[in-house]
Amino acid sequence: MKFVSTRGQSEASCSASAIVKGLAEDGGLFVPEKFPQISFDELNQMIDMDYAERACTVLHKYLEEYDKEELLCACEKAYSKFEDCDPAPVVKIDENTFIMELFHGPTLAFKDVALTLLPYLLRKGADICGIKEQILILVATSGDTGKAALEGFKDAQGIKIMVFYPSEGVSDMQKLQMCTQEGDNVNVVAIKGNFDDCQTAVKNIFSDKKIERELKEKGVIFSSANSMNFGRLVPQVTYYFSAYCDLIASGEIKIGDKVNFVVPTGNFGNILAGYYAKQMGLPVGKLICASNDNNVLTEFFASGTYDINREFYKTISPSMDILISSNLERLIFEQSGRDAKLTANRMAELKTKGNYSLTDKEKTALSKDFFADFCDQLECKETIGEVFDEYGYLLDTHTAVAVNVKNTYCDYTKDNTPTVVLSTASPYKFAKDVLSAINGKVPEDAFKCANKLYEVSALPVPDQLVALKTKEKRFTQIINRTETLNAVIEFIGK
Ligand SMILES: *Cc1c(COP(=O)(O)O)cnc(C)c1O
Repeated sequence: MKFVSTRGQSEASCSASAIVKGLAEDGGLFVPEKFPQISFDELNQMIDMDYAERACTVLHKYLEEYDKEELLCACEKAYSKFEDCDPAPVVKIDENTFIMELFHGPTLAFKDVALTLLPYLLRKGADICGIKEQILILVATSGDTGKAALEGFKDAQGIKIMVFYPSEGVSDMQKLQMCTQEGDNVNVVAIKGNFDDCQTAVKNIFSDKKIERELKEKGVIFSSANSMNFGRLVPQVTYYFSAYCDLIASGEIKIGDKVNFVVPTGNFGNILAGYYAKQMGLPVGKLICASNDNNVLTEFFASGTYDINREFYKTISPSMDILISSNLERLIFEQSGRDAKLTANRMAELKTKGNYSLTDKEKTALSKDFFADFCDQLECKETIGEVFDEYGYLLDTHTAVAVNVKNTYCDYTKDNTPTVVLSTASPYKFAKDVLSAINGKVPEDAFKCANKLYEVSALPVPDQLVALKTKEKRFTQIINRTETLNAVIEFIGK
């Protein structure tokens, strides 16, 4: 399948090429030439499949150039790293509400679902494209991507990975997870600033043609593991199908019934995968976009204007502390009727004046698929407390934002469609704030917090976190944004 850029000036002849390139040469994002379809017959067949088989079914619709048997093996291997080999178990909370727990992987956040598979997609993709160069992955992270990417790519053949995170923008556990990363091909550096600073620094390196040429001479090419990479996006499409199949299997819905999904959103990758699932024929009702105080998306869906000229807040759901949601570009491309020129112009406006607007017609069309709202930090903590008291279920600080917005949506619309909330992180990853929401008294030390949270909730502490305590801190470098390129060049030389 051919891939086109959202900005219309470049394309990729196949999915493998789109994945290896990461970002299109014109600065746009790769999108499939058309959306492959999954019929109700195929959906029916997926009900009895395990997760890896479901994944292979969905993925191969896009990744036609990959051998299907081999892809299935890669999925089995990737998802064997999750508890019970299931990256997306669905838990019923009340009559119409379900939580899809996407955090049972190696790093306890939903990004593992894509990043356990991406190394295969990338390495194999390079082989398919006949690329012999070493691949250097650069990642800007608001916390969870970094660790999940490092864990996925550590000691991968022919690949090096370098991760940048905002020095003051991640939780203690997230920082510790990254600083203690093992592997000979990895590097982790903190950048002074927020996530957008990190993302911009990395994007600038990606789009610098001179650096690209110099590196190629040294036998190195760049690729990205950020959610701009189609290889990150496509594995996330699977779990929307998987949740739907599980709801049929448990008798909650019949095939063809609509299901709503609520997604705690930052870079717009996770929820966009739901939009892709809908375009492929999955009966999705509303996609509910939940934001924290950085509510640029809420405003966008309400007003049709995306405007980053606003204050940036550091919140207790740091993985959603984002003003520039990169993947929104893919949505507005679709919404404009795939008008690449218009999309390129809007992105240029965003860069020069920090905003752009949709037409009224586009805005109205969007509200058919999406509902958006936000909640502040106090409401987030209240929601954690309420859900714990009422159902004995512990939410993390990101998922709680989603549950809060789901409640707002239901109060407002009286919609009683079965609704799946995507749970994106283990509560233990944000133990301090989760604990303070249900208990009040909070120890300073992150591990003491985890133990206390266990005492209060009886939910076992994940082994991955216990192990961190005794690991060596390997990466402690902090740099200014302007030093990013030098840090990359230094790492390549090593
Ligand atoms: C990355 C992340 C998000 C945001 O997902 P996007 O795909 O960037 O919208 C939400 N919650 C957690 C825990 C995350 O790690």
